[in-house]
Amino acid sequence: RNFATSARRMAVTAAAEPTQHLISVAQAQGIAKGLVGAIGNTPLIRLNRLSEQTGCEVLGKAEFMNPGGSVKDRAALYVVKDAEEHGLLRPGGTVVEGTAGNTGIGLAHVCRSKGYKLVIYMPDTQSQGKIDLLRLLGAEVYPVPAVAFENPQNYNHQAKRHAERLDNAVWTNQFDNTANRRAHIETTGPEIWYQTGGKVDAFTCATGTGGTLAGITRYLKEKSNGRVKSFLADPPGSVLHSYISSGGKLIDRTGSSITEGIGQGRITDNLGPDVELLDGSLNIADEKSIEMVYRCLDEEGLYLGASSALNVVAAKEVAEKLGKGHTVVTILCDGAYRYADRLFSRKWLETKNLLSAIPEHLQKYIVL
Ligand code: PMP
Repeated sequence: RNFATSARRMAVTAAAEPTQHLISVAQAQGIAKGLVGAIGNTPLIRLNRLSEQTGCEVLGKAEFMNPGGSVKDRAALYVVKDAEEHGLLRPGGTVVEGTAGNTGIGLAHVCRSKGYKLVIYMPDTQSQGKIDLLRLLGAEVYPVPAVAFENPQNYNHQAKRHAERLDNAVWTNQFDNTANRRAHIETTGPEIWYQTGGKVDAFTCATGTGGTLAGITRYLKEKSNGRVKSFLADPPGSVLHSYISSGGKLIDRTGSSITEGIGQGRITDNLGPDVELLDGSLNIADEKSIEMVYRCLDEEGLYLGASSALNVVAAKEVAEKLGKGHTVVTILCDGAYRYADRLFSRKWLETKNLLSAIPEHLQKYIVL
């Protein structure tokens, strides 16, 4: 695949105007208008030890501080707002989505706050805890057999058909609905730019739907005339790293990962042409991600999920590559709360062959 500069230019100039941050800043200083007004405007945290070790400023956007506990609150709000603006969702309507994780929780909060019903389809391999949480947040949950995307019974297709059967209902389609990416073009990107005063040299981020990576990359490239470098951070088992690092020639599906919510098997519409904007890609092994979960806890006091830790590993590697004096920003997607029974369990770590990845002095945190 040809990484044409014209496509690059086209995608950069297509970025939306950053108006949203002005509203967000005002809200942060006053009273949020309902729960949705409290989404976004998260702190940018300097990772002190990592910054000292690399001689760079390594900064993490604290998305775990959103009301629903993850970066997905932003996309949830934007897909619902987009449906309202397009007349697809009127008062009393129903939102339907296929999700096993953070998007469902974000949507549950947003829908409760705005008075919509929420229907969630998810693979039946997901934990009872996730189903219980979504139900107690008011969602109607359908666990369905875990079959591949190609199969019409896949949870995403079932969600689509469910919405089609109802009046005043919308399938929010987080993977290919670009209102997801727009959330990050209009809020997360501008927040990072203004929080750093534009002093940012590189950005690293993992991808599930691609909304976070593509939206922030697009905004930062546009604001800096392409100066800010952006790198995908990919877990094993995702096809994106091989695709990007080979210039679109290679698709390698081998491997699997303990990280949740990230890794992708295709170029979603949210990633789309923005793949061309990326300056490269890093493949991060689970051993490094799990070690970073423990290091962030011990050295920075941060209780992070594995996708956040993977992002931090990528930020560290990019900082080391760029050399002293640079500023690298990454995303702290969610906290470890929902994963604690795995990430801090000796038995689970042994099953995954990851116990030896935790340095001796950090093993005191393995308490479950
Ligand atoms: N980390 C976690 C924990 C997630 O749940 C997700 C979303 N599935 C991501 C990262 C990736 O975000 P995005 O969908 O914007 O690529």
